[in-house]
Amino acid sequence: MITSGKVVSFHYTLKNLEGEVVDQSEADQPLIYLHGAQNIVPGLEIALEGKSIGDELDVTVSPEDGYGLLQEDMTLEMPLSQFEDADDLEVGAQFEIEVGDQFEIATVTDIQDDKVIVDFNHPLAGETLHFSVSIVDIREATASELEHGHAHDGDGHSH
Ligand code: ZN
Repeated sequence: MITSGKVVSFHYTLKNLEGEVVDQSEADQPLIYLHGAQNIVPGLEIALEGKSIGDELDVTVSPEDGYGLLQEDMTLEMPLSQFEDADDLEVGAQFEIEVGDQFEIATVTDIQDDKVIVDFNHPLAGETLHFSVSIVDIREATASELEHGHAHDGDGHSH
């Protein structure tokens, strides 16, 4: 059963309000996370609490319990010269930018002469999220996973 301190593997399909698939797990690669450590959006984490291997569920998550509401003060002007591929830059393009000690996804919302306007809202901010989930595995977290606050999937983890 899923409780805090369990590592959970699950497959998911994420659709927006229009029913378009905006994200999904790869067929042989379920998402692995540490329950209770806020590795996934709060609305989904709450819905998974107490579930078991083999359970399938549909979860609707409001923006507040998902990637947050759209915020107006999240835009920034950046000089065009700061972009390596300035010629290919277009409105709607997304890129990762380091903010503090983490990477945020930014979206280009406007290009004016030598300036680029970017928006740091998460691409799914303001969206109601529909998750279809099937739970593949549940195990106890290791001591180092609990210490790090995230799941280690065996290979590919370098610390
Ligand atoms: Zn770690």
